[in-house]
Amino acid sequence: MKRARLVAFPGDGIGPEVMEEGFRIISLLKESGLIELEVQTFPVGGASLDRFGVPLTQEALDAALKADAVLLGAIGGPKWDKVEFALRPETALLELRKSLEVFCNLRPVKVFAGLESLSPVKEGRILGVDLLLVRELTSGLYFGAPKGIFTDPETNEPYGINTLVYRKHEVERLAKLGFELALARRGKVTNVDKANVLESSRFWRGVVEEVHASFRGVALDHLLVDAAAMRIILSPSQFDVLITTNMFGDILTDEAACIVGSIGLLPSASLGERLNTLGERSGFYEPIHGSAPDIAGKGLANPSAMILSVAMMLEMSLGEASLAKKLAGSVELVLKEGRRTKDLASDNEAYLKTSEFGENVEHAFRKALG
Ligand code: NAD
Repeated sequence: MKRARLVAFPGDGIGPEVMEEGFRIISLLKESGLIELEVQTFPVGGASLDRFGVPLTQEALDAALKADAVLLGAIGGPKWDKVEFALRPETALLELRKSLEVFCNLRPVKVFAGLESLSPVKEGRILGVDLLLVRELTSGLYFGAPKGIFTDPETNEPYGINTLVYRKHEVERLAKLGFELALARRGKVTNVDKANVLESSRFWRGVVEEVHASFRGVALDHLLVDAAAMRIILSPSQFDVLITTNMFGDILTDEAACIVGSIGLLPSASLGERLNTLGERSGFYEPIHGSAPDIAGKGLANPSAMILSVAMMLEMSLGEASLAKKLAGSVELVLKEGRRTKDLASDNEAYLKTSEFGENVEHAFRKALG
């Protein structure tokens, strides 16, 4: 039987609550005998700070580096807002991403059947939306040098500077992954840049076209980022895979997330080039939402994003595409049948608590496994 080692970081706020529902699925997988999953759990972020004085211990980091995949709930909260910058809970997230060498962030955005009316976009426009945003994560404007706030020695005027730089290998590896992912989907990649103004974007576009030469089965088009921002609202169903830079991706992923209706529905994966013991990409999987301190501890969190993150992990790091499809299908089924957490329910509508929703998904998944 296939064996895999996972590290789980429940984290802060609603993180532990949604992670419990991820564990529920992992227990079912173990029980079913389909895959042997060994899970080590560590506090992270504020929870780790409270217990060990640091947001991520060396022991936890070492375990994450040895794991086949890493799951995270959420990090942060007002309790730690005044902590000195170097010890802030969020630094654990940055350290994990850096140490795991994940260079891209994948965010699937799907409008679930039965939830169309929750979208701020008109129903007619969002029917069938199923897109995947692939964002470069470790380079670009957020990391280029020089960066900082300085004073011009001649004029004595202060100025701020960031540098947008992309090297060829950084664009190549992202584009290659985008094309590979498109091959397993609907075979279309939209490259988003600002090639009409930025030299780095013209360079980026050229490299994407070079990589495309090895993926002739995939259709490629280019879109300027301003046009992409409009089309994501006006005709989101036209997209399959979008690839883009760190900063453009940061903005567009949040924009695209809005059209789904609740932040509690969206999973994410961060992948690098490191392979795990199964010969798959080791990855880092987490819901896109934060620790939601306003609803923490009340059973109001929607665990769908966490459970769908487990599904992404099954597909991308554990080589279990069929199990992943069944799990994602189970979440879809539960939602389609009208069972909802509070974020999806209308004002006077009855809703399920976090664990009740998780139980419903578990039940549907058990059936799907046969
Ligand atoms: P948030 O995502 O935590 O919450 C935004 C809103 O969405 C809140 O009203 C919340 O109740 C709701 N929400 C979020 N997840 C939900 C879920 N699963 N089900 C139902 N409703 C949900 O963002 P925020 O309030 O800006 O940030 C709160 C804390 O989380 C901050 O400390 C922030 O730094 C941190 N944060 C962490 C991550 C991460 O761990 N990756 C990401 C974003 C924010």
